[in-house]
Amino acid sequence: MLLLEGLSNFYKIRFLIHKKDDYSKTWRVWNTSLRENYQDGWPDSCCGNNQSPIELLKKTAEIVHMSRLVYTNYDVPQDVFLENNGHTVKVGFGCKSVSICDGILENEYVLDNIHFHWNSEHTLNGKKYPLESHFVHYIKEAENLQNALNIPFGIAIIAVFYEFSPEGSEIFNKITKNVECVATNIKEPVPLDEQLVPKELLPKRSCNYYAYTGSLTTPDCNEPVQWIIFPKPCKISPCQLEALKNIYDEDNKPILRNARPLQPLNGRIVKYVKESFYGKFKKK
Ligand SMILES: [Zn+2]
Repeated sequence: MLLLEGLSNFYKIRFLIHKKDDYSKTWRVWNTSLRENYQDGWPDSCCGNNQSPIELLKKTAEIVHMSRLVYTNYDVPQDVFLENNGHTVKVGFGCKSVSICDGILENEYVLDNIHFHWNSEHTLNGKKYPLESHFVHYIKEAENLQNALNIPFGIAIIAVFYEFSPEGSEIFNKITKNVECVATNIKEPVPLDEQLVPKELLPKRSCNYYAYTGSLTTPDCNEPVQWIIFPKPCKISPCQLEALKNIYDEDNKPILRNARPLQPLNGRIVKYVKESFYGKFKKK
């Protein structure tokens, strides 16, 4: 502080800009190597007691019975854009018409984007999968993701695991065909040349799921987020995963891994939600 007081305003401003740059550089270190101190430089909000991802264990989860999750327009083809945001591939939905409600959710949540982590961030009964997708939804009243970030339970994320199969899933071909266009162009979204049906990235019988309150897994690690995680994995082929991962960070380094390590549970209860009927898809 004494040092700062002795500096001219010009240098004070330069100092602050430099600090900001340092922060953004530090937190993307996890792109290429997950070090023990990977979280150095992350904001204090990433040290909260309700952080994600966590280890999910069937044997310790509390079994609860709930009404079905209701998916609106999840089965309708949507115009989407693809973006390399510097740490993952993001499929963006601008339409605001795809949403979920009911089940564990007390509000309606609008789908903003689907993005991917390789390997999976959560573990299921000790197992890590090669890929995990996050369907990021914001609470409808907030009108956009940014506004929702600071509202308690402003965000609901569906997570899906993918395991390898030789043929994979057709929907990944639509995405990976376009990854090359964004591989080195960070934060320059391109429209996908085909429409996507969001439910094709979900497991077919998505009637039971894990639920807990956690956080975003990248800065600012906002809490609390309502997590919904399906235990039944979907399929991806090794070739499709290689094509999906073929993006570069701001230092032009390949993003080999982008999964945050497991965080302590800190007494949180993980629920295993059983639905009476299968998930319901609704058109508006
Ligand atoms: Zn994520």
